[in-house]
Amino acid sequence: MIIGRHRNTYAEIDLGAIKHNIQIERKHMEKDQALFAVVKADAYSHGLIPVAVAAQEAGVDGYCVALIDEGVALREAGITKPILILGVTPAEQAAYMAKYNLSTAVGDLDFLKEAQVKLAQKHAQLKVHLALDTGMGRIGFRNQTDLKAALDFLKEYPEQFDFEGIFTHFSTADSADSTYFERQLHKFHDLMTVVEQRPKYVHVANSAASIWHRQCGGNLVRLGIGMYGLNPSGKEVALPADMQIKPAFALESELVAVKKVHPGDSISYGITYTAEKDEWIGTVPMGYADGWLRRMQGSTVLVDGQECEIVGRICMDQFMIRLPHEMPIGKRVTLIGENHGKIKTAQDAADYAGTIHYEIVCSIAQRVPRFYKSN
Ligand SMILES: *Cc1c(COP(=O)(O)O)cnc(C)c1O
Repeated sequence: MIIGRHRNTYAEIDLGAIKHNIQIERKHMEKDQALFAVVKADAYSHGLIPVAVAAQEAGVDGYCVALIDEGVALREAGITKPILILGVTPAEQAAYMAKYNLSTAVGDLDFLKEAQVKLAQKHAQLKVHLALDTGMGRIGFRNQTDLKAALDFLKEYPEQFDFEGIFTHFSTADSADSTYFERQLHKFHDLMTVVEQRPKYVHVANSAASIWHRQCGGNLVRLGIGMYGLNPSGKEVALPADMQIKPAFALESELVAVKKVHPGDSISYGITYTAEKDEWIGTVPMGYADGWLRRMQGSTVLVDGQECEIVGRICMDQFMIRLPHEMPIGKRVTLIGENHGKIKTAQDAADYAGTIHYEIVCSIAQRVPRFYKSN
């Protein structure tokens, strides 16, 4: 069956699963905690707007994105709830962010100084969340002195800045060993001692922290991967029994060519695969330009519930698989998801590729149409 933008390869996104996962998360949160859906990177490749709308229907309180343009796209789609940009934004865009009512993370005083001038010129006020670097080593204030200077600056310019939040990010919240997590939490509390007036939002939890460190505090949870139904820890730490989240991402294609090859016949670029006996080979119209990377050669996909190996190099737009027997053109091929009772997960692909499931889903290219279901 051909679905979407005239292709027989597509991602099927289960918006019902996304809503279910949000509800599961809600059950574990404190009543006064806000839940922000992390929809950066095109909602982890699931599709920004459909996911944002589903999340809104499930009752989230706001959104996190990584980039200004992602926030603007949400506003242009009619989203009015708070939107926080988690990454470093250019100070010269301060008034632009204010115009779209986007809150931004701020990790250094220079940003505030430059933004203050730009905002004053436009008579605009920007909502800011101060980022604290408690051990992630990415962005944010690292000591009390620098943080104090930023807080003083914000206090000095209330017309230009609404000090809306303060936050940190953990680097090992998904790990079985919580030593470093505890160190970061300690550092966070230490930095917070210079904050006299707590802003509206104090937040520390990504999915992993919200699942395994429920006591870590804050009044806002930034829910990313858990909303998409994937275990933040991969296979390291199992999800608690009461966190039955469902994956929302499936990746499907179909056979577009089937042929019988004979001993000595080779497949694909570089002739890395040569048949040793008579074999049935099928061609799947998906390749590395779609995000199914060359290193997936040798892994399997599901056809009729059977594991079929990708043989020969993965091409830009196509790859070949070895079939157990002759099969008709149009037969469904599952790369991620359920096929006749068998399941392939993004985690399986990640294990094979030596990466994490976050990267597998984020790598699926824009040219793969997304098809939505919501039961
Ligand atoms: C991406 C991101 C998140 C979401 O993380 P998940 O592991 O997907 O829940 C939360 N906070 C920050 C600062 C992020 O960059």
